[in-house]
Amino acid sequence: SIFMDEPAQIEPIKVCLRLRPINSLEESRRSHDCITVDDQNGSVVTVASPLQGQFSFSYDKVLNDSSQQEVYDHAAAPLAEAVLEGFNCALVAYGQTGSGKTYTLMGSDIKSNTRTTAGVKNNGGENNNTNEGMIPRLIKDIFAQMASSPPTIEYIIRCSFVEIYLEKVLDLLNPVNRSISIEGGEIGMLSSPEDGGGEGVRLEGASEACCFTESDCISLLVRGNACRSVSSTKMNTDSSRSHAIFLMKIEQKDNSTGISKWSQLSLIDMAGSELGKKDGLTARDSAIYQEAKMINKSLASLNSVVNAVVANQNREKDEIDVPYGSSKLTRILRDAFGGNCKTSLILTASPASYNIDESIRTMKFGECCQ
Ligand code: ADP
Ligand code: MG
Repeated sequence: SIFMDEPAQIEPIKVCLRLRPINSLEESRRSHDCITVDDQNGSVVTVASPLQGQFSFSYDKVLNDSSQQEVYDHAAAPLAEAVLEGFNCALVAYGQTGSGKTYTLMGSDIKSNTRTTAGVKNNGGENNNTNEGMIPRLIKDIFAQMASSPPTIEYIIRCSFVEIYLEKVLDLLNPVNRSISIEGGEIGMLSSPEDGGGEGVRLEGASEACCFTESDCISLLVRGNACRSVSSTKMNTDSSRSHAIFLMKIEQKDNSTGISKWSQLSLIDMAGSELGKKDGLTARDSAIYQEAKMINKSLASLNSVVNAVVANQNREKDEIDVPYGSSKLTRILRDAFGGNCKTSLILTASPASYNIDESIRTMKFGECCQ
């Protein structure tokens, strides 16, 4: 980032809550809607849990049964602009399996997205594919903004796509040799390639594909998605049990001034945050049990990181150590949750009574991040 020499500034995380419509499974359980959005500008929700009683939460925005375009406008569009200004940015989707993380980030059918987007000209923010998710929209937006920037600016876009599965980092763009290690990360800032990657977090061995067009980028997304580790649980037959991280590195050089900027956009589709009781798992299903254990461990470590960062912000001295090193997820996300990065967190949740205790857990996590 161009801001490397300035003291590290903690950017507050922008947190939005997205509620999806009640689905047929929930309907079949005679679930009712437990969540009310209760202020004029839609930032406060009240939750009535049959077991736990009533709670209120307040976020930047509550998106209740909103379109992809509305979610984009609130949670993602500011990042497209900021990353081209040279800020590191991150968009994170967090919630239980089946709550809409992948729908939000990718869209309902990422494959049909490529068909409709390839060769289609950008028509000024209007989007014909209404189901398209945040990542393809960000990609289109960024390429459109680059196309309308002064001709003296040259851009190089390089993308990586990795997942964290069972505490291993795997390359989704290279199915043959998938193994990746995380290096560096002592200071908590991503550093530029010119610095030799010094103190920043680096994914050693991750494929980096140069992208010249938006469809280059979207093809990578489709290719990588097809390689994600999945296992079927009762809740969702293609539930993703891994954290998926799509990285877009943007280098820009203004030939009229000789000034270069370097920034990165990190897009993270987290593994399901549920405790797993409803999945009907037993310790005997050892592979699935291991997955659930690892996911819970890494989400717990993310929770500890967020709590420590917030505690440090609220006290004058006696900084406590932030346990970034406690999982692969927190090492990779150390900038997004505590560095000089513009981070937007989308909590995805169901409003149905059947899932309300998981929704409350998601909402509590989001509240801590603000
Ligand atoms: P997750 O990735 O969190 O496990 P998905 O994104 O796969 O969940 O969503 C589960 C199902 O619910 C999918 O069939 C998806 O299309 C649907 N869905 C999720 N969010 C919405 C929404 N906001 N509107 C309509 N359908 C949704
Ligand atoms: Mg998913």
